[in-house]
Amino acid sequence: MKLQRGIPHGREDETGRLPGSSFLTGPDHETEGLGGGPQSLTQVSHVQWTTIAVPTHSRTQLIDITNLVADELAKTGVTNGTCSVYMPHTTAGLTINENADPDVARDILAGLARLVPVTGDYRHAEGNSDAHIKASLMGFSLRVPVIDGRLALGTWQGLYFCEFDGPRHRHVLVGVTGE
Ligand code: ZN
Repeated sequence: MKLQRGIPHGREDETGRLPGSSFLTGPDHETEGLGGGPQSLTQVSHVQWTTIAVPTHSRTQLIDITNLVADELAKTGVTNGTCSVYMPHTTAGLTINENADPDVARDILAGLARLVPVTGDYRHAEGNSDAHIKASLMGFSLRVPVIDGRLALGTWQGLYFCEFDGPRHRHVLVGVTGE
């Protein structure tokens, strides 16, 4: 999985436009404690989004991207904040689950295959409705706390890219806010 800034060439998913490389969030409003009355504080955090290429190699596959995301976090120098991961595809997903025993990833794929068969009462002409449904079941973004410069994941947790209609050239966006 090669790290790159920008959008990889090659076969793309049914994606829409990509967000810009950065944007401003905020304002965040906080209220003061006892006696002070409500006060509005404006905090503007600059987010620099970077793109990680994630090539996939089979129709369905869970790929552990924990280290790729951790590398992006390390480059920012942020020690306390939030790390966001976004995936701009419609037939893949993101999830967090155990990455100690590889059978867990295998069982997740097997369970999703039982829940959402490849063929069924589908109308989508492209023939990959199962992949679209699995994508929505998994979701398209993750948010992980950053504490002491590290992803505050549980001992057994890892970040997974979930391919449901591969192989394809995929990518995820990683953005870190904090200080
Ligand atoms: Zn489709």
